[in-house]
Amino acid sequence: MNALAHQTAAGFETRFGYAPTGVWSAPGRVNLIGEHTDYNEGFVFPFAINRRTYAAVALRADGIARVASAFSSEVHEVSLDAIARDDSLDWAAYPLGVAWAVRTIANQLNRDYEATGFDCYIESDVPVGAGLSSSAAIECAVSTALNELWNTGLTRSELARAGQLGENEIVGAPTGIMDQSASLLGQADHGVFLDCRSLEAQVIELGFAKDGLELLIIDTKVAHRLVDGGYASRRAACEDGAAIMNVGSLRDLEESDLEAAEAKMTDVTFRRVRHVVTENNRVLETVKRLQETGPRSIGDLMYASHKSMRDDFKISVDELDTAVETALRHGAVGARMTGGGFGGAAIALTPIERISEVTNSIYAEFEQCGYARPDVFAVSAANGATREF
Ligand code: ADP
Ligand code: MG
Repeated sequence: MNALAHQTAAGFETRFGYAPTGVWSAPGRVNLIGEHTDYNEGFVFPFAINRRTYAAVALRADGIARVASAFSSEVHEVSLDAIARDDSLDWAAYPLGVAWAVRTIANQLNRDYEATGFDCYIESDVPVGAGLSSSAAIECAVSTALNELWNTGLTRSELARAGQLGENEIVGAPTGIMDQSASLLGQADHGVFLDCRSLEAQVIELGFAKDGLELLIIDTKVAHRLVDGGYASRRAACEDGAAIMNVGSLRDLEESDLEAAEAKMTDVTFRRVRHVVTENNRVLETVKRLQETGPRSIGDLMYASHKSMRDDFKISVDELDTAVETALRHGAVGARMTGGGFGGAAIALTPIERISEVTNSIYAEFEQCGYARPDVFAVSAANGATREF
């Protein structure tokens, strides 16, 4: 039995003075390929990782929600009906926001249920702010618990929407649906291939272990630096590019449209467009190669993705480039920065016999460059949100 799940139940009892009804968990995620394609209605290919957030939950007879976390000593207490009006929620906006969103979506779907208040205590081994989506893990653990206890009957796709809705409306972060989809739909040794236009998801076997490979995460510890307006300016450039090309989103462009695009827009806008169009194709090609020739054949796609983000989308930083180049030089099959950019983590698909060489070389190279010491660790593809007991 899972030690952290039991620790979470024990923590619930310490905070609230009685035993929880159950413990639910949901994983963080890493994006294997498909960056800045989500808001262009394109393709992403993340997988759920073997780092999880645990939520011990019990319903109450009244309309009060209390949430606590190993994270901090405070217990947030709020009336369920007041969640959307409360702007002092801090980290509790994640669990309470998703609770609000599960009710909101159940109401939209005319579900017959009764949502009472609840007590919830959270523990996690998903690193926060490393680009592994600790936020989706907490949302999906809590929403899976409440969906069962409240009998709201939402599907996993509807729960993913609830996570996004809570994060957009209550936390106030304008995120897409990728993280929650991976956390809910993930399966051991499989990736979640997601079409961000139709929201259709398909699980695809990764086969890393079978081929003697592991995925290393290199958390550079560089806080996401908002270089020249960062994320917002990239989104704006994508919208401009789509408007100039007279399409609803960049998803509608093919690589064969790029020549025409280059003639019609500034060099900067064209480069942003080229990244998205080529990245969508790299996601499709990754899925195809995994099915046909296996994971050792996706390395050049990962590196091409990195170069496109470095040179066209311009969202890499020196630490990420160093992590990628060092990993490749020491035997990684493929490597790229992952996540929104301007910091965060890189990933390196690495033969098991090269893991220690790649890891040690990255530590040494970072030290020589005078960078902060990164965190380097392997992850595997794990099952999505579930009830532990
Ligand atoms: P990430 O890339 O890890 O998702 P975010 O900034 O989106 O980074 O979300 C991190 C935030 O989620 C934290 O600052 C905190 O508010 C909340 N959070 C994550 N894990 C926990 C936890 N175990 N307990 C309480 N809050 C958490
Ligand atoms: Mg997040």
